[in-house]
Amino acid sequence: MRLPDDEDMLDIDFPLGDGSAETEATVYCPYCNETVEIAIDPSGGSAQEYVEDCQVCCQPWTVSVEYRQDGSASVSITPLDE
Ligand SMILES: [Zn+2]
Repeated sequence: MRLPDDEDMLDIDFPLGDGSAETEATVYCPYCNETVEIAIDPSGGSAQEYVEDCQVCCQPWTVSVEYRQDGSASVSITPLDE
């Protein structure tokens, strides 16, 4: 999944990028209240924040991902316009 020009990502010393960390999470959309499965990427680091659109209603979220040492992920969704 890594692109050749992703050197910044590869520089991060993060031990969970070996396939044992969670790669998907179930979240509730704050706009439409649907349950949505999203893909998360452990190679992005232990703490990540990015914008993603809801797959159901297409409203933008701010997604916050935190990986714990055991590879489990804590994911929270907030509306982008908040
Ligand atoms: Zn939605």
